[in-house]
Amino acid sequence: MTSHERTTPPRVLVVGSGFAGFHCMRRLEKHLPPDAAELLVASSADYLLYSPLLPNVATGVVEPRHIAVGLHNTLRRAKVLVGHVVAVDIPGRTATLRRPDGTDRELAWDRLVLAPGGVTRTFNIPGVAEHALGLKTLAEAAYLRDHVLRELDNADAADDPAHRRACCTFVVVGAGYSGTETAAQMQLITTRAAAEYPRLRPQDIRWVLVDLADRVLPELSQRMGDEAMEVLRRRGVEVRLGTTVEEATEGKVRLSDGDTIETHTLVWCTGVTPSPLIKTLGLPTERGRLRVGADLKVPGADGVFAFGDAAAVPDLTQPGKLTGQTAQHAQRQGKVAARNVAASLGYGKAVDYRHRDLGFAVDLGGFDAVASPFGVSLGGLPGLVATRGYHLLALPGNGNRIRVSLDWLLDWAMPPQVAQLGFLRDEQVTMAAVEQTGIYASPPADEWEAASRDLPTTRAVVADTGVPRPPARERQPG
Ligand SMILES: Cc1cc2nc3c(=O)[nH]c(=O)nc-3n(C[C@H](O)[C@H](O)[C@H](O)COP(=O)(O)OP(=O)(O)OC[C@H]3O[C@@H](n4cnc5c(N)ncnc54)[C@H](O)[C@@H]3O)c2cc1C
Repeated sequence: MTSHERTTPPRVLVVGSGFAGFHCMRRLEKHLPPDAAELLVASSADYLLYSPLLPNVATGVVEPRHIAVGLHNTLRRAKVLVGHVVAVDIPGRTATLRRPDGTDRELAWDRLVLAPGGVTRTFNIPGVAEHALGLKTLAEAAYLRDHVLRELDNADAADDPAHRRACCTFVVVGAGYSGTETAAQMQLITTRAAAEYPRLRPQDIRWVLVDLADRVLPELSQRMGDEAMEVLRRRGVEVRLGTTVEEATEGKVRLSDGDTIETHTLVWCTGVTPSPLIKTLGLPTERGRLRVGADLKVPGADGVFAFGDAAAVPDLTQPGKLTGQTAQHAQRQGKVAARNVAASLGYGKAVDYRHRDLGFAVDLGGFDAVASPFGVSLGGLPGLVATRGYHLLALPGNGNRIRVSLDWLLDWAMPPQVAQLGFLRDEQVTMAAVEQTGIYASPPADEWEAASRDLPTTRAVVADTGVPRPPARERQPG
């Protein structure tokens, strides 16, 4: 039912509460007078996850809850509905929300804002979906910390030297910002933690960082990449460039250079592919991302907007290119989209999205970081100050900022806490289970083919998951 039939104000439905959806909704609350529209956010989480600090959670430096910005605390007017949007009927202007109890609810909308982000990209490499650990959610970050500490425990108790070596060996794939931060920070924390185990020595700990690229941190300048490389070398992290994983099996990772590494820990940080929801829409995509104009509207789908990691937003500062899948873009696109949604309802003027990258900030743990704010290259302590200052500015909510700052101070002042919390069992943390990639409606048949040409790996990710569909389907008008 549309607003014309409902005689209520038009309804704006925002799907997702990451950087894109959260900032869009926050701005909509500002741009639209209270009676101008009903605002709904439907998201699988009731918070914005500040994902750039996930490596800090995996190391135990920052508490998980401190990087979750609660929607109920921060949104003043919008109604929050927790669940996955699993299907959208664009001509009928409805969306199906699957709630955490497995029931479905149909939501009518007049403006639809699609910001469901992405899921971990696995490239369809054999064994990765079963054996690798992702770092996209809070659950995965908290689990990774527990898992690594458990491996140290196992190593400490092991009598067989080969088993002990495998327990102390950790492989990270992807030398972009998340993989490099994870390898560098985790190496530091595990060598420190090793001192707490009677039979372990810091030199027993081995971290390996693997990437197909020819240098680490390709997002940053060569100089910054070299500086990060120097920190990794100094710490003893083995960096394997021009190399990829060919297969992961129980206890082994086979690399493209012919080497096989015995390990129980494979951390997958190779970026994201758009949410499986995008494929279900049957709309044109570009490299798997939903095609949109510079005004963030979806062509051919009246009243639909999309942006963030899930959308192919043209980069007006570099014609012919798409904007990067970064928080920096997603947050700013959210704000522009709010203006344009408001304009479509008769409030203000629509604008195009245009933003030049402000640079990157990479926290390597301890007092090491590399950053390039506004093109100025900074390393060491100045880099760290810039990196952490940037995160504190970008993290919404004073409560979260204070909590994270205190966590950082405590980390400098006190030894790390070596304790496993055991909140999650192993089978709960496969990437497909955590990211729930198998709950979506199937795309239209011809879309399967087009989609698999677009991004060959995603089809398998969607099909592979084995997450059962709930039997009950409760339909409620929105
Ligand atoms: C470990 C890590 C480190 C990173 N570091 C940086 C960094 O330093 N700098 C930087 O700029 N970027 C960084 N990024 C990238 C950045 O986090 C993403 O580009 C950004 O989060 C994209 O925002 P988004 O809103 O599009 O997606 P997300 O932030 O992923 O948000 C998607 C939202 O949609 C919800 N959702 C998903 N599916 C559905 C559905 N079907 N129905 C309803 N809700 C759904 C999710 O719960 C979430 O709220 C990092 C990412 C990771 C994983």
